Amino acid sequence: MIQLYIPLNFLGVIYREIKQSLTDLDKMFTLMDKEREVADAPGAQPLTGLERADVRFENVEFAYDPARPILKGISFDIPAGKTVAVVGPSGSGKSTLARLLFRFYDIQQGRITIAGQEIRSVTQASVRRAIGIVPQDTVLFNDTVAYNIAYGRTGATQAEIEAAARAARIHDFIAATPKGYATQVGERGLKLSGGEKQRVAIARTLLKNPPILIFDEATSALDSANERAIQAELHSAAQNKTTLLIAHRLSTVVEAHQILVMDAGCIIERGTHAELLARGGRYASMWALQQSGEVA
Ligand code: ATP
Repeated sequence: MIQLYIPLNFLGVIYREIKQSLTDLDKMFTLMDKEREVADAPGAQPLTGLERADVRFENVEFAYDPARPILKGISFDIPAGKTVAVVGPSGSGKSTLARLLFRFYDIQQGRITIAGQEIRSVTQASVRRAIGIVPQDTVLFNDTVAYNIAYGRTGATQAEIEAAARAARIHDFIAATPKGYATQVGERGLKLSGGEKQRVAIARTLLKNPPILIFDEATSALDSANERAIQAELHSAAQNKTTLLIAHRLSTVVEAHQILVMDAGCIIERGTHAELLARGGRYASMWALQQSGEVA
């Protein structure tokens, strides 16, 4: 019996390994397909003028599937160095705005510009260099903490990595692990909580130091101490950067220069927190609901 068990068990391991590599290959082809979808225009040049990296959406229409329009004529501006926050129900198209700005997909109508240049007309690599994304669910590599923070800025020194980790308030946590920055993370190493992963992503973005920042807030509820800490980190990361903040909790957006309220692919209200409260519309009722939820 044992003689049969060992080879079968061994086969099981091999099977899992093969299956894993097939899944990875599958992911790679999906990504490659996406890359083809957004190829550089012939003779495309890199983005320039990024010292004033304003972002503009003009009448943007977009559908993942032609039969189902997702964004229906979206227009807004993020002046250089300012923060625009987007709120609205699940599925209203908030994260899609972030994907389009990063040019994961091309739009069907309208224009998206960075520093006055349409993102379709410049190189994709230069658009992605100009933007730092802190996604909802950060995926970490099966590598060291240092590698995960430095990813996106090759040649970063240990001192620079530590400075970014301090600013993202993850340094003390890393320093307390036996191997510090050499600690392996991910599936085969140290498992980090959602908030810790997001801090690694913030550190990565601070190190990359791009002029534009996209922050896609995690949907999962954090306890309020953690939430305040993440907000403070976000606030320092967004200083002087052109920031698109996709928010799931209204407490994060109070300080934004402008708030866009989305519903079913349209912007239904826009203004500062005070303006939107005074208007007594959708935002005001969302705010009242969230406040009563927090009190309860
Ligand atoms: P949430 O608050 O839940 O994150 P959201 O407002 O960010 O939602 P989006 O992720 O922008 O919403 O999704 C908008 C719509 O587009 C949803 O109906 C969603 O099902 C659809 N959608 C999102 N990604 C894809 C995709 N890759 N292919 C097809 N449809 C998609």
